[in-house]
Amino acid sequence: MKTLLAGLILATVAMAAETNPLVIAHRGASGYLPEHTLAAKAYAHALGADYLEQDLVLTKDGVPVVLHDIHLDTVTDVAKVFPGRQRADGRYYALDFTLAEIKQLRASERFNAKTGVPVYPSRYPSAAAPSDFRIPTLEEELQLIAGLNRATGRTAGIYPELKQPKWHRAQGHDLARAVLPILARHGYATKADACFLQCFELAEVKRLRHELGWRGRLIMLIEGKAKGDDGTDYAAICTPAGLKELAKIADGIGPAIGRIVTWPAAGAAPKFTDLVALAHAEKLAVHPYTMRRDDLPKNCPSVEALHAALFRDARVDGVFTDFTDVTAAWLRSAEMR
Ligand code: CA
Repeated sequence: MKTLLAGLILATVAMAAETNPLVIAHRGASGYLPEHTLAAKAYAHALGADYLEQDLVLTKDGVPVVLHDIHLDTVTDVAKVFPGRQRADGRYYALDFTLAEIKQLRASERFNAKTGVPVYPSRYPSAAAPSDFRIPTLEEELQLIAGLNRATGRTAGIYPELKQPKWHRAQGHDLARAVLPILARHGYATKADACFLQCFELAEVKRLRHELGWRGRLIMLIEGKAKGDDGTDYAAICTPAGLKELAKIADGIGPAIGRIVTWPAAGAAPKFTDLVALAHAEKLAVHPYTMRRDDLPKNCPSVEALHAALFRDARVDGVFTDFTDVTAAWLRSAEMR
């Protein structure tokens, strides 16, 4: 009897774990440490994130590194270390630097490249303080996560994003073909593995499934605007027909929060779209971005209100958050974790 009861409890806990919303550490614990540094990932792991996000771009020598933009100049000292290496548009591209060169750069909290002013003034002050943060390779980050998973006995999954694959191909580089073998080597290859691969470009999502043989879970990211720079028609994807079509290749969507809920005016009640219901009707998971307590959606009264709207009212399946602990605490208080 005791064994049966224990079994039942275990099964219930396992089921709850399966259905509870996911806390996805957006660029790591980026609310506290410079985004995408190994320190930010280690801290997010310690704060209990279910998944840790990696944005991926290539170096000149074809190595996937964990960096949010194809540019280096808003999170590193590249302009100081390699003056004159910018392109005609004034930007410093990761693709123009070898890994050895990128490793010479110090990473810092995101700042405006023109003015030097931090984007989030209340966050880690690393632009001014001495630091030894570096841009990690995908390989280095996966090793860190595997090490932490093993040492803590708690598995955090990974959530890699292919950044601007169309642009990479136009420059003569194939980002997906560089990334997939590394994921496979680290045990991320099927839907049973703790990995969601994500991309904003529909053509690439299709290519991953049909051409490149990706068998793991796949998330179609959806911007707030109607069309992506690569031509992806987000408005069309968000229709019932678009989602039905998408469900043939993808496991979920990662929409901008504004596609789910908005606050029409200060003091007004939140206004919801039917996107979550439409996606769920096609068995697509919904993981919106981005929860930032220091940058709430327009007219949203509080970070608690934002969590309640997304998790309790809209019933999303997870959220990208800069503040892993804040989101995890809200879910615990709502008995959803
Ligand atoms: Ca991302």
